[in-house]
Amino acid sequence: MKKIQMVDLQSQYQKIKEDVDTAILNVLGSAAFINGPEVKQFETELQDYLDVKHVIPCANGTDALQIALMSLGLEPGDEVITADFTFAATVEVVDLLKLTSVLVDVDYTTFTIDIEKLKAAITPKTRAIIPVHLFGQCANMDEVMAVAKEYNLFVIEDTAQAIGADYKGKKAGTIGHIGCTSFFPSKNLGCYGDGGAIFTNDDELAHKLRGIVNHGMYKRYYHDEVGVNSRLDSVQAAVLRKKLPLLDSYNEARNKAAAYYSEAFKDIEELLTPEVNENSTHVFHQYTLRVTNGKRNELQAFLTEKEIPAMIYYPVPLRKQKAYNNGHYNDADFPNTNKLVEEVISLPMHTELDEEQLMFITSAVKEFFGK
Ligand SMILES: *Cc1c(COP(=O)(O)O)cnc(C)c1O
Repeated sequence: MKKIQMVDLQSQYQKIKEDVDTAILNVLGSAAFINGPEVKQFETELQDYLDVKHVIPCANGTDALQIALMSLGLEPGDEVITADFTFAATVEVVDLLKLTSVLVDVDYTTFTIDIEKLKAAITPKTRAIIPVHLFGQCANMDEVMAVAKEYNLFVIEDTAQAIGADYKGKKAGTIGHIGCTSFFPSKNLGCYGDGGAIFTNDDELAHKLRGIVNHGMYKRYYHDEVGVNSRLDSVQAAVLRKKLPLLDSYNEARNKAAAYYSEAFKDIEELLTPEVNENSTHVFHQYTLRVTNGKRNELQAFLTEKEIPAMIYYPVPLRKQKAYNNGHYNDADFPNTNKLVEEVISLPMHTELDEEQLMFITSAVKEFFGK
């Protein structure tokens, strides 16, 4: 059996090696490393795939979130609400820009922002919401957009883990004012280095975003505002152009593995398998179980013993991280995040899991629970 990995990027690369190698060599030959034609072409192809008016490529997903926030004309102290249970990048950029991050609890079954908690966190200073489509399925966007409309707030979708997911027929990241994604190698659409992109249907925001990614420059050497330098390079764009046409089949492969897992675990009472929202498809960036009998860490150790990797995404709520604890949070407001950090465990999930590996992994988990 092939060694089991959380993410198997080598096996995936071997299948597209010839195509990708040629594309990379072409960029090297052209020497158009920055802003080459590959970048522009990828931009157009991703616009078509997402059915969105503007795609602005950038250097990584964290930059995408930062630049999105920078485009909104917010003032220091303005509040931005996001989920307590996500990767730190989502909140990091808020604090970095001297905006005030407000973390709220997530839903226990979908791992996405809890709408009631979101509503309760709104103050006269709230300006934006960043829903995170965690682990590959969309937050409850109908509700998020309804809240945003009622209070006149911006919505930035963190789509780093959910590219390709559909929410009621629209692609994740194209429903809010701005969508952000990452092409980090292990993401569902990963390049071979760092990369990211920002999406919007708003022409004015798109213009602003294009300026900010390029030193606040709208006319060469005229800097209208403080920007950043955040570029997707041509080599990464060339890789992404080869992988974008495969994204749906990659997400399908992830769904197949997820279905195999969930079928195998359906009779284990102490194990809650991921639930799929009625309005969103799931692209299983992660396959995340909840272990309800308090034995999550034992399960992880048991699997490690059998050389099956399993990860805890995420072990600490963001509000308990030193960097993001403002002293104002009340533990009782976060019952779900508090439970999730103790219960979650993510199994190997990627496009190259074969039946032998899946059988081995599921047998080990069943053995742990005496099934
Ligand atoms: C990966 C990720 C990011 C950051 O993307 P990078 O390209 O690594 O900067 C942001 N938010 C979430 C939810 C992520 O998973």
